[in-house]
This record gives sequence, C-alpha cells and structure tokens, in this order.
Amino acid sequence: MLVHHIQELIGHTPLIELPIAVPNDSHIYAKLEMFNPGGSIKDRLGDYLIQDGLQSGKINATTTIIEPTAGNTGIGLALAAQHHQLKTILVVPEKFSMEKQVLMQALGAEIVHTPSEQGIQGAIKKANELAASIPNSYVPMQFKNPANPAAYYHSLAPEILADMPHPVTAFVAGAGSGGTFAGVAAYLQAHDDATQAVVVEPEGSILNGGPAHAHRTEGIGVEFIPPFFEQVRIDQTLTIADDDAFAAVRQLARKHGLFVGSSSGAALVASLKLAATLPHNSHIVTIFPDSSERYLSQKIYSK
Ligand code: PMP
Repeated sequence: MLVHHIQELIGHTPLIELPIAVPNDSHIYAKLEMFNPGGSIKDRLGDYLIQDGLQSGKINATTTIIEPTAGNTGIGLALAAQHHQLKTILVVPEKFSMEKQVLMQALGAEIVHTPSEQGIQGAIKKANELAASIPNSYVPMQFKNPANPAAYYHSLAPEILADMPHPVTAFVAGAGSGGTFAGVAAYLQAHDDATQAVVVEPEGSILNGGPAHAHRTEGIGVEFIPPFFEQVRIDQTLTIADDDAFAAVRQLARKHGLFVGSSSGAALVASLKLAATLPHNSHIVTIFPDSSERYLSQKIYSK
C-alpha cells in the first residue's frame, strides 16, 4: 500500500472475531483501534474536529487549537493540527499516562497540566481560561461538540457494518466523552433497531448511580452524563472493576497476542458478562480503543 501522508492511514482498522470461549456459544468482535497511526480511536476524532473547524471557518491558518484531554484526543488532535501547521495546546490532568504526554509533545503540541484531583472538569475550566486569553484560539471541546459523535457515526460505525458477517445483537463500548458510544450506537440502531447498545464504565464513574471516585481504568468513566447520550437509546450500563479490566488485559496479551489498554479490558469483561444474558449464538461488537504500550509505566501488566 503506497500512501503519501500519515493521515491517510486513519480508519479502516481490523475487526477481529476474538478466539475465546464466550457464554452461550456467542461471538465477540473487537475493532482494533490501536492500528490508527497515532495509536488510538481518537485519531478519527482529531482529524474530524480539525476538518470541521476548517470547513466552518472556526479555524484558519493562524489559529491556536486548545483542548482538554485525557491524552488520546490530544495525540489525535496534535497529529491533525500538525498536518495543517496549527499550534496546539493540550490541557491534561497530571495523573494521565506519561507515554501519551510524551507523544503529544513529540508531535509538537504544548502541554498544560491541571491538578489530578480536579479531574477532567479542571482541565475543561483551564482550557476555557486559556482560550479567553489567547487571540484567535479555538477549543473544539470534545465533551459537547456534536462533531464528536458525528466522527464515529460517519467512519467507525459504517466500517463495522461493512465487516460484520452477521447482524449485530449488541454493541458494547466504554464512555469517556461518550462520543464513540453515542455515534456508533446511533448508526447501528438506525440500521437495525434490534441492536442493543450497552455502555461500559469503571467503578468510580457515575452512570449507574455509584459514587464518583478515582479509578485506574484510563480513558473511560464520566464525572457528568455526556450530552450525546440524549440522542441514543441505551439498553444497559455495565460497571466493571479495575482489577477485572486489568486481568482481561493480561489474558489478552498472554493468550492471544493482543496488546490493549485498560478500557479495552473493561470492554471485554462487559461483553462476556452481557453474553451470559443474551440468547444463544449472539454477535457482540465492541471496541478496543488503544494499546497497552502507552500504559507500561503504569505497570499495566503487573497489577
Ligand atoms: N478508551 C480510551 C483509551 C480513550 O482514550 C477514550 C477517550 N477518552 C475512550 C476509551 C472513550 O472514548 P469516548 O471519549 O469517545 O467516549
């Protein structure tokens, strides 16, 4: 395959039917988003947000892009911004993976830290403050921009249907901003209303009504209900313990050669739980958003 720019490699990631025993003789398929050039599902979003900003006139050649992010959106945005030679400032709570921050800087982005205990809300506030003080700046604001679910509605979801050999019984995905889940679920349900949409969160996220607290599963978990959830039918929310997600990550490497991050581990645990409750021979699609290699300093394989 001959390409002329790294952006051409975004999307069209593989869908793997996992070679694992699933309850009720069902099947789990995972979209391997680590194969995007920036290493995660968020390359799609970075590209879409920059294109959207350019087309709508919110971004021009001298605009500074500012965004609060747990990391992967930062890498995706930095990659897309670099293509258009746009300055990028990413606001990241200190606790998030060092590997992701090194990669953002390697792409030319500047990082501004906010205190871990202020969570993503602290990063959102800081990004808005910076935007107010920097002329010709633009905050795509993934947490409320409708372009976020739209990015997945138009790219990831059609890829899933094109590759799936069977009707999709259920779609299972974690939520950070909620864009992936909402965009893909809306597309799949528009195609087949019988497809169940099941959202995954770690303990410490608030969707199932539990108390908010810190968790080790990175990239998913919400401190407020994503506004995108209003546009989609959610059939179930599954809350997965960090230890179970990390155990699944270790199993996927040891038994199947798959290096995935902790949100992928949570997605697998949730898919297996769901399979036990679904009819025989169900077909469950989930997303593995990134690779374990960006969590090695957090000892992803030894906890
Ligand atoms: N997993 C990982 C590793 C992520 O970085 C993200 C994005 N924060 C997600 C899952 C969830 O994606 P979304 O923001 O679309 O809900």
